[in-house]
Amino acid sequence: MKIAIAGISHETNTYCRGETQLNDFRITRGKKILQQLGMETSTGGALQACIDLGLDAVPVLIAWTQPSGTIALDAYLSMKQEILDGIEEQSPVDGVFLDLHGAGVVNGIEDLEGDLASSIRKLVGEAVPICASFDLHGNITQIMADALDGVFACHQYPHIDMHLRAAEAVQLIVDMLKDNFRPVLHVESVPMLMPTTTTFLGSGKEMLESILAEEDAVDIIDVSWFHGFPYTDIEHVGTHICVTSKGNRESAGDLSRKIARRLWDFRENFRALSLSSDEAVARAQASIDRPVIINETSDNCGGGSPGDGTHLLRSMLDAKLENACFGFIVDASVAEQAHKSGVGTSIDISLGAKYDNLHGTPLELNVYVKALHDGRLTMRAMGKGSQINYGKLARLQVNDMDIIVASHRSQTFDPEPFLAVGIDVTRMDYVALKSSNHFRAGFSELAGTIITADPPGLTTHHIEVFPRSNSREPLWPIDETAAYDPAE
Ligand SMILES: [Zn+2]
Repeated sequence: MKIAIAGISHETNTYCRGETQLNDFRITRGKKILQQLGMETSTGGALQACIDLGLDAVPVLIAWTQPSGTIALDAYLSMKQEILDGIEEQSPVDGVFLDLHGAGVVNGIEDLEGDLASSIRKLVGEAVPICASFDLHGNITQIMADALDGVFACHQYPHIDMHLRAAEAVQLIVDMLKDNFRPVLHVESVPMLMPTTTTFLGSGKEMLESILAEEDAVDIIDVSWFHGFPYTDIEHVGTHICVTSKGNRESAGDLSRKIARRLWDFRENFRALSLSSDEAVARAQASIDRPVIINETSDNCGGGSPGDGTHLLRSMLDAKLENACFGFIVDASVAEQAHKSGVGTSIDISLGAKYDNLHGTPLELNVYVKALHDGRLTMRAMGKGSQINYGKLARLQVNDMDIIVASHRSQTFDPEPFLAVGIDVTRMDYVALKSSNHFRAGFSELAGTIITADPPGLTTHHIEVFPRSNSREPLWPIDETAAYDPAE
């Protein structure tokens, strides 16, 4: 059985400056994609499933880049064409697995995944199963679902189960071919802009457990809870439930509306606490459970932010925190300056806040260069086994604080960037980083306390600050008239 594997994965923050171009994507083609085998990524999971199920995986093209601005039309069209040509070359295929995000926006095409899935459907025909795995931050549409036979969003945030969900998607392709049935999918959208909410604890965990319990119903293959991606100004922004049924349209609709209603009624539990960076630092100082992890959610590259914001770092320096580290702030020019100067030297730097004024002003500091690293690391918590390149890293010291500077945009996923420059975070009193929730996969177990800072930034919990002109209906929590009215 021949399964084509392809995908374009991008979380598009339409509030980011500039378009995302073709050369911003990391594109892997053909057999090189097999290198993801063993990694806990969607494609890695799909490849492993193909081996486990005795299928012939035919990798075509996988494209990914950090969350960033709207994708340039020509960039998308060229990747799409390459995928279509690649699948056609391998035709006939028995099934297609797609590694998608769900929040891709192209200049002129608001629903990247809907467009891509529909085009592939047109190419392979109705009889060939197409199943996809998604990021739960997707803004899913019925158009996407109608073009697919299975939609499998990761359940967990941090996304530690991407590979497992991809394997389920591949399994469904096999089940469809063996048992000769056609799934039916229903997408129910709830007019909510969910603040980034972890499923590891609290309201997110409670809701996820209640949703997963619904998968036991007769005829139901899968329930996917898409938290949605709020930092985008498109018509179908929101929170979504997608139910894949074994063929019963009514049960898919009924169950998705039932869960959507539950989400809507539960919405106030998702309202996020928003602390300024000074407030977060004050709380950290008052905490006796060390190390205190302070995550700067509002400057999370994983949602499209630049990662060079200085608000939290400035507050920590002003508070003269001792035995503290910050890992990391993105500033390629300062990292380069430190690498040129070398370990053991002192340099004057103007650090961060070079992207815009929203994320603060540069910090003028005299620092000691303590350690340097090439930034090529292996992920050890979420996406386990994946290679990641933070670019040149520099560990800089000022007073009793260690500041790690990275060159490439990324959030902090696990303690590896700290270890790389010689910092054992368990020995620190204060550990600051830029991430909304993915860091929890690598830090929850070692953290004494986790405190979230939300100074101004492109991924702030204050979603009311982003202008909206395209959403199709009033949205909670930014509009008091928002209401969930399920279409029967
Ligand atoms: Zn996500």
